Amino acid sequence: MQVKNLVQFLHQWAPPAHAEGYDNVGLIIGDAAATVTGVLCTLDVTAEVIDEAIAAHCNVIVAHHPPIFLGLKQLTGANYTQRLVAKALLSNVHIIAVHTNLDNQLVNGVSSYLAQQLQLQHIQVLAPKAQTLAKLVFYCPSAFATQVAEAAFSAGAGTIGNYSECSFTIQGMGTFKPNQAANPQIGEREQTTQLQETSVAVLVQQHLAAAVIAAVKNVGFYEEVAYDYIPLLNTNQTVGSGIVGTLQEPLPLPQFLEKLQGCVQTKAIKYTQTHHSLISKIAICGGSGASFIAAAAAQQVQAYVTADLKYHDYFIPDGAFSLIDIGHYESEQFTSNLLAHVLQHKFPNFAVLKSKINTNPVQYFV
Ligand SMILES: [Zn+2]
Repeated sequence: MQVKNLVQFLHQWAPPAHAEGYDNVGLIIGDAAATVTGVLCTLDVTAEVIDEAIAAHCNVIVAHHPPIFLGLKQLTGANYTQRLVAKALLSNVHIIAVHTNLDNQLVNGVSSYLAQQLQLQHIQVLAPKAQTLAKLVFYCPSAFATQVAEAAFSAGAGTIGNYSECSFTIQGMGTFKPNQAANPQIGEREQTTQLQETSVAVLVQQHLAAAVIAAVKNVGFYEEVAYDYIPLLNTNQTVGSGIVGTLQEPLPLPQFLEKLQGCVQTKAIKYTQTHHSLISKIAICGGSGASFIAAAAAQQVQAYVTADLKYHDYFIPDGAFSLIDIGHYESEQFTSNLLAHVLQHKFPNFAVLKSKINTNPVQYFV
């Protein structure tokens, strides 16, 4: 297996199109054509993690946090990032990042993994992502309508929430006149043809649209396939930041914090008081989730669990819900489990390991 095969699988699982615009995901350091000897999964790439990969004969590291995030203008070893990049290159260790494209998944995402640990029910995306959906409308001879829909479905179109094979068809009359250079399957050159046509409309994730259009063209009903590709303003129910869900049993805040502390195994949690006597509906966003405080408030949660909050953020809820900071590392520590699990399942005969190194740079003095 080559590095690019691994990247390809990871991108099907967590599409880069679902990453945030500021992010840097995919193959960050290395050679796509290199042969993979083994994979080490980690939250962060540190010099110790690269040494761990080398010792375990893994020449690929799959990390959550990209080792190059801002720009890189020199490679002189002047700072930590530059030394890390040089070490990876000199050691022939290839590094792939699966970052906000993994955060933003409703299923298998970083926040949903935390939600599973807390056994949350009725989960949905906290801040659904916009501009990821499109409508494709294909115009075909009515006899081909079923084949067209099936081709579109098999290439990934037609899914809405828990429903697949969703489509809408309209019958109508189509006209066309092939010129001398055309090679029409139906009709004659320089003659107008009128034909009973069906338009088949399907919803598609924008990053899959090209594959769906190719699959429908491949059905082979016309030399030129007419279609509309319409980007939608609809938000995506399965892609976006954070998770909202409800606890199996409502808990007083201290008991909820205790449960949370047990899940993330941290020595300290920062939180605000709330006027709710019981915590039931919860929002979670692994990593830096301060920008979704308003989204959590709009969902009328009793607690919002995230990390990297600033002092003034804690004043925002004003008792309406408890704002809870469990720490960035703590909120995302399960990511290496998530990455290792999916890769071990996909490549069962391949060495896929999980880093044993705690990369948290933050220490607690208690
Ligand atoms: Zn993070």
